[in-house]
Amino acid sequence: MALTATQEDVRHLVETLNFAEKVHRSLRLIEQAYDEYGDRIVIANSLGKDSCAVWHLASRVSERIRGFIVTTRFKPQGTKQFMREELERHPGRLKVFESLAEIPDELYKTDPDRCCEVLKVEPTRRALEEMDVACWITGLRCTEGRTRTDYQEIEERDEGLIKLNPILLWYEREVWQYLALNRVPVNSLYGAGYRSLGCEPCSRIATGPDERAGRWIGTSKCGGECGIHTRSLKSDGE
Ligand code: SF4
Repeated sequence: MALTATQEDVRHLVETLNFAEKVHRSLRLIEQAYDEYGDRIVIANSLGKDSCAVWHLASRVSERIRGFIVTTRFKPQGTKQFMREELERHPGRLKVFESLAEIPDELYKTDPDRCCEVLKVEPTRRALEEMDVACWITGLRCTEGRTRTDYQEIEERDEGLIKLNPILLWYEREVWQYLALNRVPVNSLYGAGYRSLGCEPCSRIATGPDERAGRWIGTSKCGGECGIHTRSLKSDGE
């Protein structure tokens, strides 16, 4: 592949690039990926603020770039409403995936890893396969919390599947700066104080430096990950 992972010190770049330089760098990364993979690049749109920024950036590169949304039966009403609005705003560009598998009651309490595996990771695998994705683009940022410090802008965690994290270097403030400057609509739940949005039983309003501290409170997964960034996403992987 023409794209090569940067060896630069991610932390140094986070702290030394200014907002405009970060935006420029993000656009360049998406442009390079689009040149390389064309219609086989896809945005993983979680409907959160970071995805909204990435979706807007990608749309500046090409309105042809598609995306997928993984939703679950436990998404808050505000997120379901925002999803409907996004689907209307971008007709034909976003595909929704959801697992209808039967799971035990309150699995999110007894085994949140399994719950996320069934409701989030499996539909993500399906999306990548069905959409014939060579490069998926995420809104992951390395300043979001304790579990997100070791990522690179370009990764190949699964052989043959590139993962691009074009806003890896952005601070939370810079995401809001970008969204405000470009008048990008966001989920109304941010107005209620949420900073990181997931399923209703597993998301709380958090304050303090760790943006993801409100996720999976009271479980071993607190502040952690659903698994789409940590598990194999090839269909035969676990
Ligand atoms: S975020 Fe919670 S409810 Fe949603 S899939 Fe994961 S454990 Fe289940």
